[in-house]
Amino acid sequence: MIPVVPSISHKMSKDLINFYAYLKNKNHHAVKVPSQKDKPSIIVIGSGISGIAATKELTSHGFNVLLIEARDRIGGRVHSVELGKGQFIELGAQYIHGIKNNPLFNISQNYQLEVKPYTRSDWAIYDIEGNEIDKNQLSEIVDEYKHLLSSLSLERKSDNKDRFLVEDMKELDTKILRHKATKEGDLYALAKMISIKEYNEEKLFQYKLGVIKKESESNYLVTNGYSKLLQGLLNDAMQTGLLKVVLSTQANKIQHTSENISVHTKNGEVFQADAVICTVPLGVLKAGTLMFDPPLPKLKTKAINKLNMAIHNKVVLEFEDVFWDNNLSHFVVLYDPTLNAWLDIINLQFFHTQKMPILSSSIYSGNNAKINTDKYMLNHFVNLLKRIYPDTYRPLKQHWITDWGNDPYSLGSYSYHPEGSGLDDNSEIAKPMGRVIFAGEHTHRSPSNIQGAYLSGLEGAVQVVEQLHNIYEMAAHDS
Ligand SMILES: Cc1cc2nc3c(=O)[nH]c(=O)nc-3n(C[C@H](O)[C@H](O)[C@H](O)COP(=O)(O)OP(=O)(O)OC[C@H]3O[C@@H](n4cnc5c(N)ncnc54)[C@H](O)[C@@H]3O)c2cc1C
Repeated sequence: MIPVVPSISHKMSKDLINFYAYLKNKNHHAVKVPSQKDKPSIIVIGSGISGIAATKELTSHGFNVLLIEARDRIGGRVHSVELGKGQFIELGAQYIHGIKNNPLFNISQNYQLEVKPYTRSDWAIYDIEGNEIDKNQLSEIVDEYKHLLSSLSLERKSDNKDRFLVEDMKELDTKILRHKATKEGDLYALAKMISIKEYNEEKLFQYKLGVIKKESESNYLVTNGYSKLLQGLLNDAMQTGLLKVVLSTQANKIQHTSENISVHTKNGEVFQADAVICTVPLGVLKAGTLMFDPPLPKLKTKAINKLNMAIHNKVVLEFEDVFWDNNLSHFVVLYDPTLNAWLDIINLQFFHTQKMPILSSSIYSGNNAKINTDKYMLNHFVNLLKRIYPDTYRPLKQHWITDWGNDPYSLGSYSYHPEGSGLDDNSEIAKPMGRVIFAGEHTHRSPSNIQGAYLSGLEGAVQVVEQLHNIYEMAAHDS
């Protein structure tokens, strides 16, 4: 979830695609096109940001694209719900992580995405009983935490500036847990948070505790519907006349030989293409519900098994009126023992131009945590809010509760690195198998976020060009 300057620039991918367009126009009659059509056709599986980015790039350079999506909507883990009158809530991604050198931010401006800095100037922290935690008391804990961090002189991986070495994290865990034995209370909560081994989240909770301030300053909340970006990119692709989108169509097998590639669907259809870009999430690859014939190589399967999916769910509650302190941008519940998670509750009214009495709670938890039933979750959150605001509480109007971990088309929220895995595993998953190309957040060296997913889509388009180019060259050589 941390912004990293991409290794491949948008311009570079455009240049490669332009090169392909040039090659195609110049040599079109000299080489045998595998599909024997005027334009190569590509199947993109999955209409998340990676699939849509690849689709837009390919169609704008003359490729036919068939976009196959299992759900009845586009967007994948970007899921904006419009409540009318320009009001939106987000059930999936909500932030742009950093705007400097972030190609996602630049492109979001083309599609009129409104972003507001996610500042930490006005916020409060509570414990699960609804007691506000004194910030001074907390700063003591933060100091202790900082001290622990500095005493470890943590080293950062050279290939990834945003993560600590697993060994460092282990040592940190041990030290904090030792503190737990001597000191109960908030430090115990902190220790529990840290024992939720989400390395991707590690920096996030540091900033929650105020250890890192710059990070929070560079997070931006999208307020007018993140899906505008995806719909905008898709509309552009549509306008080329080269795109067909099929929704509610689950791909369940990719059959590939050096000659042919076909995608089989659960409905029994078979689609042929010159290349396939597979953007199904890591969770789907791990579950094996999309088969490959011949199967994925051992090294790729090993890398898929090494990475894991983190669980991050949302409980979004709309009330009849605001009953909370409306000057707060958000409030944090340090540790929720029932959910084994920490909670970040955003006051949407603070950020949105359209005033909505809505609280959007993120549940940041470990990969083993399971979401409970809707009824349970609803009661859990309503009771928590009643404990925090016993005198002013107002009735609930409507609610949304996500379960990304059990959704068959995501099976988790985003990839993370458990102990013993690293960015090389992401790169291994990204390797093409002939003309079957892999994209999606989990294939990128800046994984877990929309930015990485977007760039992986562009890189996937480039890989299509490279693979087809190889075939063109071979065909030209043979003729
Ligand atoms: C609750 C939550 C909060 C998040 N917050 C942020 C945030 O604030 N900022 C951020 O940058 N990132 C955030 N993320 C992560 C971000 O949403 C993802 O990294 C990104 O959207 C992934 O895009 P993708 O294209 O790789 O995958 P997806 O968006 O998952 O797209 C894959 C698509 O494939 C489809 N599919 C799956 N299986 C099949 C099949 N067999 N056949 C056909 N189609 C199939 C799926 O339906 C889906 O549409 C969050 C994620 C969650 C869940």
